[in-house]
Amino acid sequence: MQLQTKTIHAGVNKDSAYNSIITPIYQTSTFRFEDIGTTKGYDYTRTGNPTRTALEENIAALEGGTCARVIASGMAAITVTLHFFKSGDNIICTNDCYGGTERLLRLYSETFGFEITYVDMKDHEAIQKAIQPKTKAIWIETPSNPLLNIYDIKAICEIAHNNNALAIVDNTFLSPVNQRPLELGADIVVHSTTKYLNGHSDVVGGAIVVNQPQLAEKLHYLVNALGQGEAPFDAWLVLRGIKTLVPRMKAHEVNANAVARSLAKNKNVLKVNYPGLETHPQHELAKKQQFGFGGMISFEVNGDIGKVNKVLTSTKIFSLAESLGGIESLICHPATMTHASMDPALKAKVGINERLIRLSVGIEDTNDLIQDLEQALLF
Ligand SMILES: *Cc1c(COP(=O)(O)O)cnc(C)c1O
Repeated sequence: MQLQTKTIHAGVNKDSAYNSIITPIYQTSTFRFEDIGTTKGYDYTRTGNPTRTALEENIAALEGGTCARVIASGMAAITVTLHFFKSGDNIICTNDCYGGTERLLRLYSETFGFEITYVDMKDHEAIQKAIQPKTKAIWIETPSNPLLNIYDIKAICEIAHNNNALAIVDNTFLSPVNQRPLELGADIVVHSTTKYLNGHSDVVGGAIVVNQPQLAEKLHYLVNALGQGEAPFDAWLVLRGIKTLVPRMKAHEVNANAVARSLAKNKNVLKVNYPGLETHPQHELAKKQQFGFGGMISFEVNGDIGKVNKVLTSTKIFSLAESLGGIESLICHPATMTHASMDPALKAKVGINERLIRLSVGIEDTNDLIQDLEQALLF
């Protein structure tokens, strides 16, 4: 089955009582036993729920995994994943990762004895040098947020595996339509389904996908033990959103490509970060490991913070808001919004400066989006 067929059919047929085409929402906390020890496969919704299972089977099929668990949020997915490790373990992480990931890793290092090393993952020698005997994982986010750097998943997974560490990829920015890390050697894939997978900005959720039996068993244990499973209604919304994932991702990319090219020609723009531009430093790598370039762009305004604020507040279609991956276009200021909690020294080092603006390009009319940004950038 091709991906587009899987988005619509994988996992969805859960109703043997009435044969409904769409998966029902099993809005129940508990399930009746037939006798001692016999259930119809479910006993309690924290442990498992058929609506959640439908979404889990769907996402596992899309990512090419054998097992997925869907979780209350993207951060909950990352929290659960950190529980594969213990006090004293070292994790090497992409230095320009999502702000919430950096905040959570800081909590785990300050409170639970994890050691986190941030590395520029373009530099494979630097990754190799950061490896210690206690290194248990390499945390890869590509494209990175908000700078859209691309890191070589296959090469970094090899470094991890040569050193008995797990390779984990946050695949939120591209979705399985545009990138499938398990096929490139990753052990664990995490998602904020809040973003492209759901795609309609009306639910917060996450997912974790694996393809090895021992990781699947631990994952099932952790989600149940930590009580992080996604609510059935939220799982149902994400399952509904995924049905249009393929055409949405195509539409996001058509618009993002046109917007990036228009920004690159604008004299009030210093720099555009979009992996689909031939001028992007890792354009060739993006072409090799991705199936598309996605809908996220960041750019630097040629001007002071007053001008940046003018741009952020004068768009009429792009809304000034956090989050990404919905059908509507959003504009945000990473330094004070999505990455406000990031360690200031790390922010400065990786280049998240005050001039930087991030766009989540939606699926509105292409020319409307281009004109909206052109008028906001007039000064
Ligand atoms: C949004 C996001 C998260 C966190 O997900 P939530 O659903 O907001 O908890 C993690 N990683 C990336 C790359 C994100 O964009």
